[in-house]
Amino acid sequence: MKIAILTSGGDSAGMNAAVRSIVKWGILKGCEMWIVREGYEGLVRGNTEHAEQEAREANAAAAEQVEESVKDMELKTEKNLLHNLRFGDGDLLRDGTSEFVGGRTLKGRYIVRVGWDDVRGWFSEGGTLIGTARSVAFRSPEGRRAAAFNLIKEGIDALVVCGGDGSLTGADIFRSEWPSIIKALRDQNQITEQQLENHSHLRLVGLVGSIDNDMSLTDLTIGAPTALQRICEAIDNINSTASSHSRAFVVEVMGRDCGWLALLAGVAGGADFIFIPERPPHVNPWEDEMCAQIHRHREVGKRKTIVIVAEGAHDSELNPIRAEYIKDVLTERLGLDTRVTTLGHTQRGGRPCAFDRIFPTLQGINAVEALMEAAPGTPTYMIGIQENKITRVPLIDAVEMTRAVGKAIKEHDFDKALELRGTEFQEMLQSFQALSSFPEESSKLPEKKRMIIGIIHMGAPAGGMNAATRAAVRYCIKQGHRPLAVHNGFRGLLDDNVSELTWLGVDAWAPRGGSELGTNRTLPSIDLGAIAAKFQNYKFDGLLMIGGFEAFNALMILEEGRKYYPAFHIPMTHLPATISNNVPMTEYSLGSDTSLNALVDACDAIKQSASASRDRVFVVETQGGKCGYIATMGALAVGASLVYTPEDGMGLDMLRRDVRFLKTRYSLDLPGKSEGRLVIRNESASQVYTTSVLTKMFIEEGGSLFDARSASLGHTLQGGVPSPIDRARAARLSLKCMAFIEKHHEILSKTPPHKSRHAEPETAAIITIQANSIKMVPVTEMVHHADMTNRRGKMSWWMDVKNLVEQLAGKPQFLGIP
Ligand code: ATP
Repeated sequence: MKIAILTSGGDSAGMNAAVRSIVKWGILKGCEMWIVREGYEGLVRGNTEHAEQEAREANAAAAEQVEESVKDMELKTEKNLLHNLRFGDGDLLRDGTSEFVGGRTLKGRYIVRVGWDDVRGWFSEGGTLIGTARSVAFRSPEGRRAAAFNLIKEGIDALVVCGGDGSLTGADIFRSEWPSIIKALRDQNQITEQQLENHSHLRLVGLVGSIDNDMSLTDLTIGAPTALQRICEAIDNINSTASSHSRAFVVEVMGRDCGWLALLAGVAGGADFIFIPERPPHVNPWEDEMCAQIHRHREVGKRKTIVIVAEGAHDSELNPIRAEYIKDVLTERLGLDTRVTTLGHTQRGGRPCAFDRIFPTLQGINAVEALMEAAPGTPTYMIGIQENKITRVPLIDAVEMTRAVGKAIKEHDFDKALELRGTEFQEMLQSFQALSSFPEESSKLPEKKRMIIGIIHMGAPAGGMNAATRAAVRYCIKQGHRPLAVHNGFRGLLDDNVSELTWLGVDAWAPRGGSELGTNRTLPSIDLGAIAAKFQNYKFDGLLMIGGFEAFNALMILEEGRKYYPAFHIPMTHLPATISNNVPMTEYSLGSDTSLNALVDACDAIKQSASASRDRVFVVETQGGKCGYIATMGALAVGASLVYTPEDGMGLDMLRRDVRFLKTRYSLDLPGKSEGRLVIRNESASQVYTTSVLTKMFIEEGGSLFDARSASLGHTLQGGVPSPIDRARAARLSLKCMAFIEKHHEILSKTPPHKSRHAEPETAAIITIQANSIKMVPVTEMVHHADMTNRRGKMSWWMDVKNLVEQLAGKPQFLGIP
């Protein structure tokens, strides 16, 4: 198959990661890979005859060069990959030029064949290296006919489009018109009968690249997490100055038709009020609602005010709500010193965060697979994501549903617009509403339903622990419960280090890293009877534990302790928070996203140094205990060549192969064009082949081909400021834990007074994300899935990812392993 890829519409971080993985995976599957520069505009313009001739000559020269460099190797059998190694156009694309560079030119060439090495290192760069444009020509039937002709001329029979809803709408039109377009081309004698037959069906797949996250049927679009990161960085910076001067800030963020960025920034950044297109303020005039809420916050002692407004925000009559006007209202009505910050294009820019490298890479692979499986009868798919799972949905459904949101808004049917945005969006909005307004007495539950809820942190600190605690505390206060914070884990409980938290006291906690409550690894088994007595003294009706494997272990101990201690017959939940992501059965723990971002930042810097020194391998050691999650996902996010995990261990045969792979790889680099390569090793991958031993081995074996150095990331992986994804998920999951506690408390409170309270095992549960859903798993069930010795799950859903990392580095292929 010949596959072409284009990026279209507004650029977004992560598009390069998608292009890179599509190119690599396509080559691995035996396809010829092409890139279309400048989106649909490039497709319409195609290649000039002269440019094509030039490309043919240059490609022949490149192939010769590859042949030359493998002449003396045992690898000649792997022709497919080696012939696809490089066409030399990667550098031109990367340099962002269509001018004459190094004897080659892209002038007059919009459809360019690329090889394995042409996309090397692409995904640490923001934007799209293959260019994007908004094409007027493609909107016309003539333009689309020219586009089809140009594809057929190059023999391309499959197309991947990465863009926003407009681009995917265009793609869908193109696909549906394809039969009539090629018939017209044949009728006009522009293509031969053979070409008509060969191209009777256009295989097409869409990836959603858009910072707005405005596409239906996918939880996230490529680039949205990075844009959110940029916004939250700005808000975190604004927070300190707002607080110092007791000012109000109105922050305008992107989102013409979709309020996702404003909403998530509101949850993650702890805003006071947000304006989004899908849910205009309830009260008319909205100025009253906003001022009442902000006035109340000031009354209880808040020194700063943050209002976030999506650029497409409007009131319930669809009159636009502008940042400048909000500023005037706050200044005039509340007398606040108010400033406006419009974030503008900074939201688009910059290096992609870990999420925007990992998921576009996985989606790119899925896109190639979808193309390979496509038959004339199968629908055209859009590759999306739901919670943690890559999904395929019919493109037409996604496009139609996205349009339906816009239509619902235009018709003032905001409930429908919200429903169409999906569950996660709705839950985030509920989270924001529950956490942002100061609760009034009237919102609270009746006295007899109110609880005392203990909140405790366990294990090592992880990003999002404080955001989760903030959410739990605010929810408790809203409902009339009393949130009691246990400081310094179970040891702190024994020392009566317990205090009641307040709404204002946790206000600034969302962006804080570490653990505000203090945390340690002491388990309740240290003195279970004394712990039960403390539960009784403090009259805990429910317990929320936030932490890693220890918290799971502690929950197990407490549940077993129910046999002896009535105080444990209360609903208890564990919200996984650990950078190791080693809690069984959940694909995600708070802190793991922050940690991957820290790893990506460190590795980008290390790789730069490794490349600058030429021919250098960096062995990077990560934390993670006996769980290789962070090493593996980190390796995928930074494009490491090799990864070592405790699950797979390390052995001599493996190392011998790996050294051979590195030697082959370096020997195929063009002279002076060699680059740094990363090897990621989990700290517990082997007791013998330590990072130091591995590095020395590479130095010894690399000879004149490559040198090696090592770096240990250690505690830096805990990250400083938690990522917005960790913060937002912390709030959402924490509220689900609270709902779980409330539900089971209500059931338990129906126990007749003469009977002793008996909590069923399922009332002690861990909140998990499994594929595309959130599930509460009873600790008694989770035990069966836990490897208690190695402190991880028995099954690791990400084990296949290790394989992908090595395939994307070309290890099996360069070693000639079929
Ligand atoms: P963003 O979300 O960043 O705006 P987008 O993909 O929605 O990205 P658009 O400008 O709407 O951006 O679309 C990009 C390109 O897709 C257009 O310039 C046009 O070439 C093509 N396109 C959009 N809508 C159509 C359509 N209805 N028919 C044909 N082509 C279209």
